[in-house]
Amino acid sequence: MEDFVAWIERHCPSSIRGKRLSYSGGSKHKMPSPEFESWFDACVERGLTVPEWSKEHGGAGLNSDEAASFRSAMEVVGAPLPLFGLGIAMLGPTIMEFGTDDQQKRHLPKIARGEVCWCQGYSEPGAGSDLASLSTRADDHGDFYLINGSKIWTSGAYKADWIFCLVRTDQSVPNQEGISFLLFPLDAPGITVRTIDLINGGSEFCEAFFDDAKAAKNDLLGDLNGGWTIAKRLLQFERASVSRGEFLPRGGNLPAALKKYAADDFAARNNVLCIEMDDAAFQLTKRRAKQEAMSSGTPTFATSTFKFLSSELESRRLDAITAMAGTQGLGWSGNVFTKEELKTTRSWLLSKGFLIAGGSSEVQRNIVAKRVLGLPD
Ligand SMILES: Cc1cc2nc3c(=O)[nH]c(=O)nc-3n(C[C@H](O)[C@H](O)[C@H](O)COP(=O)(O)OP(=O)(O)OC[C@H]3O[C@@H](n4cnc5c(N)ncnc54)[C@H](O)[C@@H]3O)c2cc1C
Repeated sequence: MEDFVAWIERHCPSSIRGKRLSYSGGSKHKMPSPEFESWFDACVERGLTVPEWSKEHGGAGLNSDEAASFRSAMEVVGAPLPLFGLGIAMLGPTIMEFGTDDQQKRHLPKIARGEVCWCQGYSEPGAGSDLASLSTRADDHGDFYLINGSKIWTSGAYKADWIFCLVRTDQSVPNQEGISFLLFPLDAPGITVRTIDLINGGSEFCEAFFDDAKAAKNDLLGDLNGGWTIAKRLLQFERASVSRGEFLPRGGNLPAALKKYAADDFAARNNVLCIEMDDAAFQLTKRRAKQEAMSSGTPTFATSTFKFLSSELESRRLDAITAMAGTQGLGWSGNVFTKEELKTTRSWLLSKGFLIAGGSSEVQRNIVAKRVLGLPD
């Protein structure tokens, strides 16, 4: 196997090692720095933004052992992820499974090279957990569909170039049977995107309004009215990526916070110990499940278990840090708080969102009960 550590050391400038930098590509995200750009370019050239994807799709064609070895070499060197986003984590694998040759050729290399940034148009004001009741419609107009309706909680839509969107294409059949999966650019006429301010001070969330927006027929993914199966499959990829920690806030350091704020507090020590033990058990379970899944190779309904556990653990971890820090844990601005404390407050608030994103904890419990444990409805 190739010596990835040596390759990364050659291409990843030391000034960006160990730094929390991220880049989501597309026409609107800024490159974090020129040094990051040279690292990104080197990865794109070798297909290492998506190590497991085939070379034809813009990847490096590595098998899962080689890709794991590349990722652990990045950790050893402290190299930041060159590219990150919904295109890589969710849509790309879905297009590989359901897309035509033409769709794979047009979309996958652009995702791999970070040329297009994608967002997810699933939720609507009246369709969240009960996603199949969505009402944004797409009507057939010969060469194209006309889309009317709206989406909400569309993360990052204001900086995205394209949207993958669930639309209703048949109103006369039961909800799940009349849904299709469409891809279209967000800069088309008839589309308005507005940001929503969040409790953590950010405004990553958006609303998207479609008023006779056009989507090309050749960007219907899978069969007409066959979108529900694709939507569920993509959610498995989404939940798998959340459970790998890719989208979690990851702020604060639990043992360091205990030492700093509550070293002599028995209850706090006990709580930290329980969280650390649960986390260790979770990491071991994930490793075992990964080995078991190697044979099937793709995420299953068990991803709901991992999405549930990882977001709950992250929330418990940040709750504990915030509680131990006392008033220092509730800082929003001002120089009585350290930078780390201010960042942890925002991560704590954001961690609550991940109990809901990608399907709430209650919904994951329902899926685990039905699909993993086989319990009756
Ligand atoms: C950080 C974040 C990012 C997001 N990004 C996106 C995105 O990019 N694109 C997108 O389309 N959506 C996105 N969402 C929206 C997300 O998918 C929905 O918020 C989620 O599916 C829940 O839907 P809802 O908000 O309408 O709540 P509701 O469905 O109204 O649920 C309200 C409450 O009822 C509970 N509940 C609902 N049904 C059941 C049930 N059957 N059994 C038990 N309890 C139930 C829920 O758990 C929840 O506590 C994001 C959400 C968050 C928080």
